Amino acid sequence: MKAVVNPSRRVEFDLLRGSGRGPRLGRLRIRGLEIPTPAFMPVGTRASVKTLGSEDLEALGARLILANTYHLYLRPGAELIARLGGLHRFMAWNGGILTDSGGFQAFSLARLRSIREEGIEFRSHLDGSRHLLTPEGVLDIQARLDSDIRMVLDVCTPQPADRARTAEELALTLRWAARSREAWDRALSAAPDEEAAGIRDEEGLRAGGRRAGGDGDRAPAALFGIVQGGTFPDLRRESAERLVDLGFDGYALGGFSVGERAEERVPGMEAALAALPAGRPRYLMGVGTPLEILDAVARGVDLFDCVLPTRNARKGTLFTWRGKLIVKNRACADDGGPIDPRCDCPACRRYSRAYLRHLFQVGEQLAGRLATIHSLAFYQQWMAGIREAIAADRFADFAREARARMETGGA
Ligand SMILES: [Zn+2]
Repeated sequence: MKAVVNPSRRVEFDLLRGSGRGPRLGRLRIRGLEIPTPAFMPVGTRASVKTLGSEDLEALGARLILANTYHLYLRPGAELIARLGGLHRFMAWNGGILTDSGGFQAFSLARLRSIREEGIEFRSHLDGSRHLLTPEGVLDIQARLDSDIRMVLDVCTPQPADRARTAEELALTLRWAARSREAWDRALSAAPDEEAAGIRDEEGLRAGGRRAGGDGDRAPAALFGIVQGGTFPDLRRESAERLVDLGFDGYALGGFSVGERAEERVPGMEAALAALPAGRPRYLMGVGTPLEILDAVARGVDLFDCVLPTRNARKGTLFTWRGKLIVKNRACADDGGPIDPRCDCPACRRYSRAYLRHLFQVGEQLAGRLATIHSLAFYQQWMAGIREAIAADRFADFAREARARMETGGA
């Protein structure tokens, strides 16, 4: 197949600062949305970022969220969401949505799963019903959800894994990527301006009101390929090169943070990034802590998602500019100060550490909500700080200072 650099034609990525290597400042434009990068996507697993409404996410400045295809496919079902106008309208969210392929959860959550040439067969973890996720099928599900950025089906090799297994699963991932690319072309050519290509109806966009006008509103969604290859740099490079030959709107780095040590991650990540085109967005799936994000931005990654800020928050561990705060600790019992003095989120402006600790101690649901609001606000501030530093050509200073403050808890 002829290499196509930008298969959807109208998904734009402007690289404002930087190049293929090192920190980059960018602007992803898709379907009337503008997303400044590097950017972090809060995780809304089941069409909800737990404890928050879409109005909260807007107030926090989130532009793009992640939703999990596996969960939504099983409940309430992609057909139902399509009938109700797609995922944006279903959850009343006017920002962007990236959906994964569902493969990772099918493999990690489902019972009796098996991977074969055709796809991933599994039994639902909810009711034992039998399902088959194919490269073509997951694109169809994501089209019904009408997400803005869609992911191909891949095999995420858990670590540690030997070279033979990693190479075998990578080869299957690449065959699936080629099938995905062909299915995407068929959908675009069959209905270039229709639902098959992921078109949202205009009424829904007007109801949203936050999107920019213009023809971006009727543009196709984006399709991202996923680099695999475990901890083997040569396999990572080969994976990236083959995907670039196929041509995707953006490229994800999958299979990181799946059991490998942090130092094992770097060579594979660098090998993959070196083989990806500078002018397309790169997305590191499922990573990470604020410092892990900093390290990946330094190497040229643009997009992130992670459950850590929200999951940890609900358990009482919050990220701050001075590192992790375990708000349940006794030290917070009579601390009348804010969660993070440097943060101006609604939780920090109004409530004290002592109050938040009390809410956790007595099991009030507000505890998880306030903690989530802060942690996501902090991640937004962290990414904004990164972007400002890159724009001002002082990313290295920012990274050094932020790391030191976080590691020492210093002021
Ligand atoms: Zn805050």
